[in-house]
Amino acid sequence: TPLSHIRNFSIVAHIDHGKSTLADRLIQMTDTVAERDMKEQLLDSMDIERERGITIKANTVRIDFTAEDGQQYVLNLIDTPGHVDFSYEVSRSMRAVEGSLLVVDSTQGVEAQTLANVYQAIDANHELIPVLNKIDLPASDLDRVAEQIEEVIGIDASGAIPVSAKTGQGIREVLEAIVAHLPAPKGDRDAPLKAMLVDSKYDPYLGVVVLVRIMDGVMKKGDRIHMLQTGATYNVDRIGVFRPAMTVVDELGPGEIGFITASIKQVRDTKVGDTITHDRRRCETALPGFKPSVPVVFCGLFPVDSAEFESLRDAIEKLALNDASFSYEMENSAALGFGFRCGFLGLLHLEVIRDRIEREYDIELITTAPSVVYHIFMKDGSMKELHNPADMPDLTYVDHIEEPRIKATILVPDEYLGDVLKLCQDRRGIQMDLTYAGSRAMAVYDLPLNEVVFDFYDRLKSVTKGYASFDYEIMGYRRDFLVKMSVLVNDEPVDALSMMVHRDRAEMRGRAMCEKLKDLIPRHMFKIPIQAAIGGKVIARETLSAMRKDVTAKCYGGDVTRKKKLLEKQKAGKKKMRQFGKVEIPQQAFISALKMD
Ligand code: GDP
Ligand code: MG
Repeated sequence: TPLSHIRNFSIVAHIDHGKSTLADRLIQMTDTVAERDMKEQLLDSMDIERERGITIKANTVRIDFTAEDGQQYVLNLIDTPGHVDFSYEVSRSMRAVEGSLLVVDSTQGVEAQTLANVYQAIDANHELIPVLNKIDLPASDLDRVAEQIEEVIGIDASGAIPVSAKTGQGIREVLEAIVAHLPAPKGDRDAPLKAMLVDSKYDPYLGVVVLVRIMDGVMKKGDRIHMLQTGATYNVDRIGVFRPAMTVVDELGPGEIGFITASIKQVRDTKVGDTITHDRRRCETALPGFKPSVPVVFCGLFPVDSAEFESLRDAIEKLALNDASFSYEMENSAALGFGFRCGFLGLLHLEVIRDRIEREYDIELITTAPSVVYHIFMKDGSMKELHNPADMPDLTYVDHIEEPRIKATILVPDEYLGDVLKLCQDRRGIQMDLTYAGSRAMAVYDLPLNEVVFDFYDRLKSVTKGYASFDYEIMGYRRDFLVKMSVLVNDEPVDALSMMVHRDRAEMRGRAMCEKLKDLIPRHMFKIPIQAAIGGKVIARETLSAMRKDVTAKCYGGDVTRKKKLLEKQKAGKKKMRQFGKVEIPQQAFISALKMD
């Protein structure tokens, strides 16, 4: 296909504004898929994506379209994930295309993820086509939403296309606009091969499938290719395009998007953003690389039933095959037994992985409280990354601690603004910006990530009755007065319950934890102190009083079988107990105390 007849684009939208439905209509309207193969949300393939209505892995499809001018065009759509946790995937796929459809639900308006995603598109120099969706609904307000796009995003929305992705109204106009307004890709067919490694995924039958965008040159089956960043060399054994089913083609030329397979063993061997060239005739310069994705939230995953540890290992290894941004290492906790310390891009990423393990591998999990990565600056000048509060070094060697901060953007109807500002203030937030568009406010806050990983999102939803939208990006690290709070049960430290907190909030957190544990630990024959401490200093304390009577006392020694039965029952119950010194703590207490609810 000549370059002038190719258009590459992605769709940016807030969750639920209709991105997947619109993609379906574009595919359907152009007969890319036979009617009988059409099912809803064609591009969202994972079960969990369908259920939660989010797109996790970027997908791509090639559409043939005959425009009004009578010419045949090839349109390549890369579907990008809509959520901030996956923003590294958004930014990489954005750089493989020249334009974006900006989809806004005309009954809702611009939301936080709309902004986050549209800024990525603008960063990638995209031409934007605003699309106002859901015009079939009575609440649709085209003028208000177009005005909002101009005010909040600052782009011209006079040519915005009103559509209903549900009924198909306006879809033809969108296709024509893509051809008319988006620039054709540039590239030189005769230059040395230069292709971008956009994405890769593990397929059980084909091995690693690599999504590529050709910049210059031509790639064919059998070519010996060289990856500039990793230095690896492979033979291309399959080359094709997604329609959206994988379809083999003879070659891919400049401006084209497709896939290759090349006997690559694991997804980790493919560096997203790498430049692919021919081994014999290499291109001179590499494409600008992508920022590597770094895990920012860590937590422990333990099997509820310790016999399932090997199955958990198997599940985690399989998931990691397809997700280079998910990291893990074995962890042994006195309270929870053997498990894994896992790193995630954010909370949603954590939730998605945890759900997939529970659902696809049928393993019940204990998830420890999520913790962010702290930078511990030692007195000897070195810096340690702390992934697990239990590993906090002795304070006498520590000079200071830095924590990650985020820039949070919150859009909320006016009447809830007061509650939102208070919530941000309570979480050590610093206001960076506050603006209004119509009856909605946009608050931008500098917040510590550690205050957000607990329950910020849930609190935000509840104080705004679900009307606020929220998005964030990591800004960097800043020094603050952070301490490790340990929990002691009967004077024994319980590692799985220790956490990093800000000094000013430690008492509050400590008191809450002790109160919770007091209800969760059963009474023993003796008094049990439950304490929260910083270093050697106790900051909160509860006492679990002793049991009054022996459980067997009421048997009067007479009924031996009843006594036996009772003791047996106690024994069975003990299996699910963990011993801490003289105290037995039921597994369930850890689950409840650490639960992120
Ligand atoms: P995404 O999260 O942006 O991919 O959004 P989806 O495509 O999954 O759509 C979210 C919800 O809105 C689904 O229930 C769709 O059926 C619905 N939806 C999408 N487009 C329209 C539309 O034009 N009109 C109506 N009434 N509903 C729509
Ligand atoms: Mg979707």
